[in-house]
Amino acid sequence: MGSFVRHLSCPRCGRTHDHRVPQTVCECGSPLLVEYDLPAVGSAVSRDEIAVRRSDMWRYRELLPLDDPAHPVSLGEGLTPLFPLERLGARLGLDLWLKDEGLNPTGTFKARGAACGISRARELGIEDVALPTAGNAGGAWAAYGAAAGIGVHVAMPRDAPELNRLECLAYGADLTLVDGLISDAGRLIADRAAAEGWFDAATLREPYRIEGKKTLGLEIAEQLGWEAPSAIVYPAGGGVGAVGIWRAFEQLRELGWVRGDPPRLIVVQAEGCAPIVRAFERGDEETEPWSGAETLAAGLRVPSPLGGFLVLRALRETKGSAVAVSDATIVEMVGVLARDAGVLAAPEGAATLAAAIQLRDRGELGEGERVVLLNTGSGLKYPEVLATNRG
Ligand SMILES: *Cc1c(COP(=O)(O)O)cnc(C)c1O
Ligand SMILES: [Zn+2]
Repeated sequence: MGSFVRHLSCPRCGRTHDHRVPQTVCECGSPLLVEYDLPAVGSAVSRDEIAVRRSDMWRYRELLPLDDPAHPVSLGEGLTPLFPLERLGARLGLDLWLKDEGLNPTGTFKARGAACGISRARELGIEDVALPTAGNAGGAWAAYGAAAGIGVHVAMPRDAPELNRLECLAYGADLTLVDGLISDAGRLIADRAAAEGWFDAATLREPYRIEGKKTLGLEIAEQLGWEAPSAIVYPAGGGVGAVGIWRAFEQLRELGWVRGDPPRLIVVQAEGCAPIVRAFERGDEETEPWSGAETLAAGLRVPSPLGGFLVLRALRETKGSAVAVSDATIVEMVGVLARDAGVLAAPEGAATLAAAIQLRDRGELGEGERVVLLNTGSGLKYPEVLATNRG
């Protein structure tokens, strides 16, 4: 049947690229975005048809990049629960909701990006992919690679959460531990991928994982009756999910499937690694590398995000905001979500509650606003964090 993709486009220099062959970044160094023939999508499918489809992210197949969208590499990712946090919301004076991405295969929302990236890699005939990871992306790509029969080569900081190492090995991935950060792992992967002929699937060097994460935004819209919430709070490392959600609401608006303003995107980072927050506060258009990055929220430990300029653009265009929170507050919020909402959140996910409280205190979130927190992963993947918080 074929996809509705027109081409890949560069958001920095405007060049277009052929999506029918493997692509990484633009000649100018920018990540590439997938452009769809949205009028054709609108004629091919309606919101009501989507409502009765399969219960995973592939229900949005016309807005995904596969040539054969009936046969993705799938473990049932997506369509995770979105529910109100009634007690916490009442306390904060917000219409507060949480989308629980911890219920995805491999326990984090990285499953969405990996399902889409590995599915497209298989269509393009790629046999081996390589990626640096702060932890969870390695586990997710290893799992989907195993399902697809594609070789997965992962490089990870030696001090990443132990479960991330164990899951990569369990799925049969080739794992290298690096003394350093994800940026150091990225350099190692780039060299080895070039030498071995592996496809470098690093965050935003590969154009399709963002499309998988885009389904987060599509789902939030559908689950709220095709009405955008007032704000969505996202814990940003590389920021792929934030850019994906922004693209989702733009495409939905062009399709005429949601009314009103797009949601304000709010990015939260850890005080020990906050390059996007710093650039946002300074009014910069690009992020500067963060030195000495340190936080127990491993997924947020990305000192030099390749797509930082895109996240900043998304924040400005949606009149969003960016806030940094301390590790101590993150650990406290893991406890609050568990005790007062019954949600065992990843530290990255718990950071979104800290951000909502901070913005509510500052008056940037008003009384009764509908705010969606993204819990990007399951707290079960972080026993070492739970051990520091015995309530
Ligand atoms: C990777 C990760 C993040 C950050 O995602 P980006 O797309 O890199 O911004 C947040 N939370 C968890 C649990 C993660 O694994
Ligand atoms: Zn370019």
